[in-house]
Amino acid sequence: MILARMATTCANAVVSALLAPACASCHAVLHSPIDGCVCRNCWGDIRRMPLPICEACGDPTDGPPVCERCLLHPRLVSRARAIGEYDGTLRGVIHAMKYQRRFSIAPGLAELMRDAGRDLLRRADYIVPVPLHPRRLRARGFNQASEMARHLGPPVMEAICRTRHTPPQVDLPADRRHANVHGAFRRRRRLLRTLPGLDGATIVLVDDVSTTGSTLDACAAVLKEAGVEDVYALTAARVVTRP
Ligand SMILES: [Zn+2]
Ligand SMILES: [Zn+2]
Repeated sequence: MILARMATTCANAVVSALLAPACASCHAVLHSPIDGCVCRNCWGDIRRMPLPICEACGDPTDGPPVCERCLLHPRLVSRARAIGEYDGTLRGVIHAMKYQRRFSIAPGLAELMRDAGRDLLRRADYIVPVPLHPRRLRARGFNQASEMARHLGPPVMEAICRTRHTPPQVDLPADRRHANVHGAFRRRRRLLRTLPGLDGATIVLVDDVSTTGSTLDACAAVLKEAGVEDVYALTAARVVTRP
């Protein structure tokens, strides 16, 4: 045990001295690079969603258990949870994962997501990652949602695919996001023939960021059509918009 710890310390010192790798998020020199490409300060700096939150959408609320917006306009995704707001260090870590292609960050984010979505994951029959269009998957080399999903616990089912290449939701104004993803997904029929049915199942959709929730709702519509009873969503971050 002591020898193993000494070997790790030595390996970290050698890698730090020779290569001086920087944290993928804050760019400070990593003191323990073999532990991962994001520094401990960044992981510790991630701000969680302030409590209490709305039981439905997961946004911070200072009123009743379900916020007014969710009461007036219930979504197909009946419960959504995220580690925190899409801002600051959390945004930096997600960007590093997606745009610097550091999929080794996914397990660290998944650990925080397990904590934020514990009550959702407990009820889940399956986890369904929000898919990328094949063209974007080829360009990035991995789907960040699938990478995070693998570390959440319940079995992962790649049940849906994206049939239309769409611009990223974060690049669009809010009023165009619904139209951008409407009809962009469908069931992966060939795969579903070999898997247990979705009839009456509870599914947790997983993605990196939820903006207006339009992408998650478009995926939920496909799942509901396949007979899924409840669709929840667990994302690394959420853009909080107050009504
Ligand atoms: Zn850092
Ligand atoms: Zn709400």
